[in-house]
Amino acid sequence: MYPNDIGQVNIYPWDCKDRLTENFLVSEFRDPIAFSRNHFTLIHPSLIVLMQQLRDDIGKPITITSGFRIDLVNIRVGGAPKSYHTMGYAADWTADIDLEAWWETMTSLKNSKVRYDLVGGAAYYSVHNYIHVDVRGRPGDKLVTWQ
Ligand SMILES: [Zn+2]
Repeated sequence: MYPNDIGQVNIYPWDCKDRLTENFLVSEFRDPIAFSRNHFTLIHPSLIVLMQQLRDDIGKPITITSGFRIDLVNIRVGGAPKSYHTMGYAADWTADIDLEAWWETMTSLKNSKVRYDLVGGAAYYSVHNYIHVDVRGRPGDKLVTWQ
């Protein structure tokens, strides 16, 4: 049994004000379009753990630019048809750091299996300056990356 297989994705009411961790609120993962339609938010428990792990290691605020997306939004932004964002498994984020350097650090740590074992897929979008992480698959499996 792997952590990402345990339990189901968490479902939060559209207007949920809960704090998830020391640094993250449910609202930060919320889809603005979903919010306007009173649509719930999905967040995988492993994604919550992963984002706080990143926040702790970076030591600076993380801005989630896109967390959960309802299909309508995913289609509009040209996301993959079965985006992990629509399952509550993914977050795009940025921070006031050298993101490219952090990308190298994060992926090398994942590949050495020292840290970030929860990351299933990751991508660094240099043009828009954000990193995508998702908790697909099984921790310990090879990291799926693209740029
Ligand atoms: Zn993404």
